[in-house]
Amino acid sequence: MTQTFTGNASYLNNGNDLIVVLGHGQLARMMYLGATQLGLNIIAVDATNRVCVNAVDKTVLDLTVEQAFEACKAITSEFEHLPKDLVKQAEDSGKFKPNAQAIAAGADRIVEKSLLEKLDIPNCPHQIINSVSDLQNAYQNLGPKLILKTSRDGYDGYGQWRIFSEQDLAVVCGDLVDFDFEHMPLVAEQCILFEREISLLGVTDIHGEHKYYPLTENHHGDGQLVLSLAPAPNLTPELQQRAEAIHKTMAEALNYCGVLAIELFQTGDQLLVNEIAPRVHNSGHWTQQGCAASQFENHIRAVAGLPLGDTSAQHLVAMVNYVGEPKPSSELLKLDNAHLHWYDKSVRSKRKMGHINLVADSVEELQKLIGQVHDLLPESLATNLAEIKE
Ligand code: ATP
Ligand code: MG
Repeated sequence: MTQTFTGNASYLNNGNDLIVVLGHGQLARMMYLGATQLGLNIIAVDATNRVCVNAVDKTVLDLTVEQAFEACKAITSEFEHLPKDLVKQAEDSGKFKPNAQAIAAGADRIVEKSLLEKLDIPNCPHQIINSVSDLQNAYQNLGPKLILKTSRDGYDGYGQWRIFSEQDLAVVCGDLVDFDFEHMPLVAEQCILFEREISLLGVTDIHGEHKYYPLTENHHGDGQLVLSLAPAPNLTPELQQRAEAIHKTMAEALNYCGVLAIELFQTGDQLLVNEIAPRVHNSGHWTQQGCAASQFENHIRAVAGLPLGDTSAQHLVAMVNYVGEPKPSSELLKLDNAHLHWYDKSVRSKRKMGHINLVADSVEELQKLIGQVHDLLPESLATNLAEIKE
C-alpha cells in the first residue's frame, strides 16, 4: 500500500509543529493520534529503508529524512532497535529526545545491565556470555534455572532460551557451538521466581520534571505481554514510591525527556528491574482510556516542550493484547466500555494486531466485562482471561 506523493510537501508548512518519529509501527501510529488532538503533526521514518512515511497509512512521503530532521521541532523514536547511523544523525541534529544514550541502554542488554549496576538499581543476577564455557560457568553460578538472552534485537520474548535443567543446558550448548559471540554476546540471567510482573511508566518534561502513571500489573504468555491490569491490584503508596524512586534515578542519569518504561519483577517488598524501554510501551496502552492524558499524548507533549497532562488513573482498565488473530467481530463493539484499538497490520502468528481497553469503575464491573469479552474472543486469546474473569 505504498504510494509516492509529489508536489508541495504541505506537512512541512509549520515545522515548529512537526515531530519526527523513528520507526513506523503501531506506537508511531498511536503517537500520531495523540499528537493530532494537540494540533501537532507527526512524520514517521521507516528506519530500515530510511524513508519518511505517513504514521497511520504508511504511504511514502515526498521528503528525505534530512529534510524532515531539518524542518521539525523534535525527533523521537518508537523503538530502540534502530540503525546506529540513524540514531547518530538524529542526535547530531540536537533535536533528539530522549537521546542516543537512552536508546543504547534500551537496545543493548549489556549497556543496560552496566547502567543498572552503576546506579545501584537492583536487577536480576546475570553474567555476560562470550563463549559456551561462559554459559556452563554461569549455569554453575546462577542455575539451576537460567534465561539466556541475546544482548540486542530481542523483543516479545524472541532471542531467548530457557535453560531449566542440565539437559536443557547440554542442548543449548550444542546449538551454540558455531554461534558468533563476538557479533552477538549473550546475557544469562537467573530465572527469578517473582510474585508478579509490574511496570512503571513515567514521563519527564523538557525541564526535567517527572510525572508517573500508577503501576501496572502485567501478564505474559510465551514471553509476550498478553494482559495488563491498571492500576495494579493491591497497589500501595509505598510500592508506587519505591518504583518511582528507581525511575527517577534512571531518568536523571539518562538526562531523559519523554516516556520511559521500567519493567519490574515484584516479590513482597522487593523490586528487581527486568529491563527498561526508552519509549512508550505496550503496558501503558491502558492510559488511552484510563487517564486524562495517555502515554502517547504525554510523550509528544514532553518532546515538544509542552506542559505534561494528568497521569492519574480515572478508571480501572484491563488491556488485552490482540495477538495473531484477525479483527474481532463487531459484537465486541456492542459492549459499553470495551475500546478496540486496531493497528491495520496483516495477520501473523504472535504478531500484535491491536488491543482492547476494558474500562470500569469497580473490580466487580471490570470482572463482569472481562467475562463478557472472554466469550467473544478466539480461544488463543480467551485463555489469557480465563483466570481473572468473574
Ligand atoms: P518485551 O519486548 O515483550 O518486553 P523482551 O523480549 O524484551 O520482551 P524480556 O522482557 O527480557 O524480553 O522477557 C520477556 C518475559 O520473559 C518477561 O516479561 C518475563 O515474563 C520473562 N522473563 C524474562 N527474564 C526473566 C527472568 N530473569 N526470570 C524470570 N522470568 C523472566
Ligand atoms: Mg520485556
